[in-house]
Amino acid sequence: MNRLSLRAKITLWYSAVLVLIVALTYFALLSLGRQVIQKTVKDSLITTVADNVDEVEYYYDIDEGFNEVDYYVDYENGYIEIDDDFLREVNGVYTSLCLSDKTLVYGENPVASETAALQLSDGSLRQIKVGSELYYVYDKKLTLSGLEGLWLRGVVSETQGEVQLSAVARMSLILLPVLVLLAIAGGYIIAGRTLRPIDRISAAAARISQGGDLKQRIDLGEGSDEIHRLADRFNEMFGRLENSFTSQQQFISDASHELRTPVSVIMAQCELTLEKERTPSEYEEALEVVERQGRKMTRLIKDMLDFTRLELHPEKYKKKLLNLSELAEDVCGDLAIIAEKGISLTCEAEKEIYIKGNRGLLTRLLSNLISNAYRYGREGGYIKTRLKTAENSIILSVEDNGIGIEGGELQNIFLRFYQADSSHTGAGSGLGLAIAKEITQFHGGEISVKSRPGSGSTFTVVFPKNVL
Ligand code: ADP
Repeated sequence: MNRLSLRAKITLWYSAVLVLIVALTYFALLSLGRQVIQKTVKDSLITTVADNVDEVEYYYDIDEGFNEVDYYVDYENGYIEIDDDFLREVNGVYTSLCLSDKTLVYGENPVASETAALQLSDGSLRQIKVGSELYYVYDKKLTLSGLEGLWLRGVVSETQGEVQLSAVARMSLILLPVLVLLAIAGGYIIAGRTLRPIDRISAAAARISQGGDLKQRIDLGEGSDEIHRLADRFNEMFGRLENSFTSQQQFISDASHELRTPVSVIMAQCELTLEKERTPSEYEEALEVVERQGRKMTRLIKDMLDFTRLELHPEKYKKKLLNLSELAEDVCGDLAIIAEKGISLTCEAEKEIYIKGNRGLLTRLLSNLISNAYRYGREGGYIKTRLKTAENSIILSVEDNGIGIEGGELQNIFLRFYQADSSHTGAGSGLGLAIAKEITQFHGGEISVKSRPGSGSTFTVVFPKNVL
């Protein structure tokens, strides 16, 4: 069963159910039909006999009401007139007029000898078996004056009904299988049409997995049924795969590009130094260049690793309830010692602000922003770190009065490896703000920047209050 196609399975299942339903309905209708027809046969027997009662009359005198078409029999001191409307046989119902000792006076009874033993009984319907056939017998005593002692006996074979029923049954036996076959064939075709798009989906998936072309999409045309929705979901998935694959490739290419510069500097410095005999101070200078570039590479690699880990495995960073006010004071306290370019660093933090977060990451976020403010700050300038709460949020900001950022660069500075100011590019890795953004998002917050070139910048991080 598992090896069958979905189309075959669906068709098989509903065919089996259809056949079962049709068979059950057929037998139910047959048995119901039999009951109805039996009742009709019995009713027709009773009605025919009752109708015939009125067709028999008694006259003392032959002249009274004599006419050519009726039938006359001598009886007692007069005669019996049997109207020509008397139904001897109609629809298989036979009626006979007889005396109390069952002697036939008029009419027909095809099973007279077999029913002879059956006592006459007024108004009662009985069954009698004649050979393999069942007969219904209905007697009616005539009560009109002069007719006392006369009876009407009606008989009808049960097979009378069977004849009509078997005609219906025979027709059903031919028609129903034809209809069932038509339904199965129609279902098979519809199932095939409905499932055809799935073949296209699997073909597209196969093309992508074989050729690695993530630009491929499934095109089913217009539609909004389940299969179209499935194809849409697949296309969304392919889109996301393509994006993440492209951004991964971009990351690798950016990273190699960034690493190439320090490596080239080291190689060039080594080649230059080794060209001829150098003085110890020249060797020392060369080694300092190598060390500086080595440090740069180390920082770059560390930033890349941190960034990738945060992007790919955020679950590795656990969150705990922590005092953000203390954390901000501590980071500012540590970084104030640097006091590069005579820049002053102050911290205005509201007390006792708590957040559910990762201490290491939040420290990194704030120190990245403060380091940038130092790096792009002006001689003797200032950095102001502020922490406060608003109605539903916690706001952390770092303001400087440094070189500022051009308006056109603002949307790019959070991108990986993007460095807006070429005169300072040697200083950082270009990942500081990208990491800050990842950390902010990891805590459900948003980071933004306001800046005026030449006047300074303010980076603001807004976290939702998530303590409860
Ligand atoms: P970098 O390692 O170059 O500092 P970042 O991702 O931290 O990389 O920052 C990206 C760019 O944004 C920087 O190269 C710089 O041009 C600009 N930038 C960041 N912070 C500031 C700031 N406080 N003042 C002016 N420019 C800034």
